[in-house]
This record gives sequence, C-alpha cells and structure tokens, in this order.
Amino acid sequence: MTTNQEAFDRARSAIPGGVNSPVRAFGSVGGTPRFFVSAAGAHITDVEGRSYVDLVNSWGPAILGHAHPSVVQAVQDAAARGLSFGASTPGETELAELILARVPAVRKVRLVSTGTEATMTAIRLARGFTGRDLLVKFAGHYHGHSDGLLAEAGSGLATMAMPGSAGVTAATAAQTLVIPYNDRDAITAVFAEFGDRIAAIITEAAAANMGVVTPLPGFNAFLAETAHANGALLIVDEVLTGFRVATGGWLGLESLAGGDGYTPDLVTFGKVVGGGMPLAALGGRADIMDYLAPLGPVYQAGTLSGNPVAVAAGIATLTAADASVYERLNSAAELISDATSAALTAEGVAHTVQRAGNLFSFAFRSTVPENYVDVKAQEAFRYPAFFHSMLDSGVSLPPSVYEAWFVSAALDDSATDRILSALPGAARAAAA
Ligand code: PLP
Repeated sequence: MTTNQEAFDRARSAIPGGVNSPVRAFGSVGGTPRFFVSAAGAHITDVEGRSYVDLVNSWGPAILGHAHPSVVQAVQDAAARGLSFGASTPGETELAELILARVPAVRKVRLVSTGTEATMTAIRLARGFTGRDLLVKFAGHYHGHSDGLLAEAGSGLATMAMPGSAGVTAATAAQTLVIPYNDRDAITAVFAEFGDRIAAIITEAAAANMGVVTPLPGFNAFLAETAHANGALLIVDEVLTGFRVATGGWLGLESLAGGDGYTPDLVTFGKVVGGGMPLAALGGRADIMDYLAPLGPVYQAGTLSGNPVAVAAGIATLTAADASVYERLNSAAELISDATSAALTAEGVAHTVQRAGNLFSFAFRSTVPENYVDVKAQEAFRYPAFFHSMLDSGVSLPPSVYEAWFVSAALDDSATDRILSALPGAARAAAA
C-alpha cells in the first residue's frame, strides 16, 4: 500500500510542491496532504484506504455529494458519444438556457473552462464595452489567477500571506485599484478620483475566499448604483456562490430575501455549474455579451469551451439540484456550523461564525469581520490544531482558516454524527 507521505514525496519530484493548486500542499496547516483515490456521496478515500467525511467537496462543485449517480451516468453517456468536438453541440444551448432560467440578470451566456477564464473574459469585455482601462477590486476577494486579479487576493494568496504574485508587470498591477470591502467611502473616493477611467467594479457576490464575509446590507446595490452613475459596469462573481447558496445563487438569495433591486451587468459562474468537471461561464446583459466575438470586437475562445462531457455534468447537476437539495444543504450547514460554534464556546475559544446561505466559516476573533484587515486580525494559529484533530477523526476540512466549508446534500445522519463527535476534541486542540 502506498502511504500519503510516499505519494507526496513522489509528487514533489515531478510537480512543483507536489500539487497542482497551492492550498492542496497543506502549507498553512502543516503535515502531509492526503492523496485521494475515490469519493462517493459524503465521503472521500485516501491512498491508505482511510475514509473521511468531506467538507471541501472539491471547493464547492459537489453540492449533490461525490459521484452522484445521475451526474456520473450523464458523463459516461456523453463520453461514449465523443470527448470533444471543437464545434457546437445542442447541450451547450441547453446548459445556457438553464442558467438564463435561474439568473434573471443573465440574458446571454458564454461557456468557458475555469472560473479564472470567466472573470478574465468578463473584465476584458467590460474594458472593450466601456473603452476604459481601470478595474476596481476588493482586498481579500479572489477571482482566479489572471494577472490583473492577483493584487491582495484571498484564497491561496491569503493562506500563504502573499500580497500578490511575482511575474505580474507593474503596468498590469497599476490597472487594478484595490480597496477595502464593505467600505462605501472607499468606493466613493476611488470614483471621485478615477471615475471616468473605471471600466468595472468586480466583487464576489458574497466574499468567501477570506473565509465568508458577507456584503453589508445594501452594499452590492450601492456598487451597482455607483458604477452605473459613472458609466462603469458591475461584475458580480458568483463562481463560488452561484447555484450553491440557492437556485439563483447569491443574487437569487438576496432577491428571495426581499432584494435590493439592483442588476449586475455581468455575472461569472464556475464550480457547481460544471458539476465537478472543468466548466465555467460568464453572462449578463445581452448588448454587452454580444460584444464578444464573433459578433463583437472583444476576443475570447477555447478549444475545450463548452466541452460536451463537462456540459453533460453541468446539466445533470443543475437539473438534480431542486428545492429539496437546497433545503438539505441549508439544514446541514446550520447544524454543523452551530455545533462547531458550540464546541469552540465550550472550550472558551473566541470565534465568530460567518454565514452566506449554506456557506460558512469561522474566524478566531470576537467580532464578525467585515473586510480583509479584520479577517487577518484573528488567532489564525489555532486553526492547524483544529484542522488536524478533525482530520485524525475522519473529517476533511479546507486546509486553511481563510476558506469556507462546503456541505453537500449527501451528508446523511452517520456522516453528520461523525462530524459532531469529532468537534469536542478539535475544539480542545484549538484552545490549547
Ligand atoms: N472566482 C471565485 C469567487 C472563486 O472562488 C474562484 C475559485 O475559487 C475563482 C473565481 C477561480 O475559479 P477557478 O479556480 O475555476 O479558476
């Protein structure tokens, strides 16, 4: 039997750091990353044959649980018909129509392969459409790893305490204006100074890559209002929240809650929309979307864009994700986040629970963070011990305090019980 350590050692000699995405290396929690070989439902199994209840769920896509039968069947059927044509297929339209039906702000959709591509293209499109060059982004928000979006980004950069990335030219970095989240004065100030040069504001629908930090009430609407008053666009990044927190994503959740009555110009999707396959999308106002080639002057393309196997997984996932799935996700999230908070409280560990629908995370501080500065002011050193105690008890959490926890609809009573019984020991470890 191969051990996780052997698998990691072997990987490190062939792959930088042994991983194909940095957070997987366990850099901020220490120890040996698990190398997984299979997953089904709520569980994932490593090379040593140990099974864990999975609260990462591929960082979001697996809302139905792993290897959901209807998704696997759809993928197998599609694969048997051919892996990639490099030409149009009816399934792409079907998936686009499913997205349009769920998100009223989106009137046309382009399918791409990763969330990074979706946001990168949305920004190019915003620049092409407005004829302006600057982009406003929030510190701690993560929109993928394209050059202009790496300044003060969350996710892996937060985990590794990297302010940006080497290799991004100063000229590119200078075109991204990074401001604090949830700060209306900062928005007003940046538009007062650069208003006629700003092409777009990009914001996570609800921030979840510095842990979960929700927009303050009315904040997203304020962004739309300010952008539009200045001839700029609002890009709402729903790569993480889209189709996860509700059928219509965060935008849908907000409108269910009474809504703020704002409409973003462009919206980006990833993760759930591909059901675990490499697929993402951008969509929005038809007149803006028609600025994309072949109709318009903004170029975007992809050999594997709209790949038929990925599209089949996306259609099967969105189709299976009915109201009962969201009910299960919401109740699992509530149960697990409440129990975690209770266990930490019982051990006297100061913490907050932050929730955006069924996405949640914890910060080791006593007041709810509203921005990246707040998030970094916490006793992050407590997380590695908490994380490893959970892992040793058979629960796989995100290997960073700056990431959200992801539940799936496959969490049954026995999986939940395993989480609940692991929590007291983990809370004790965090308190130590
Ligand atoms: N946007 C958000 C909000 C994300 O959370 C992510 C990834 O975590 C991305 C964009 C980038 O997506 P991908 O990793 O598919 O490139």
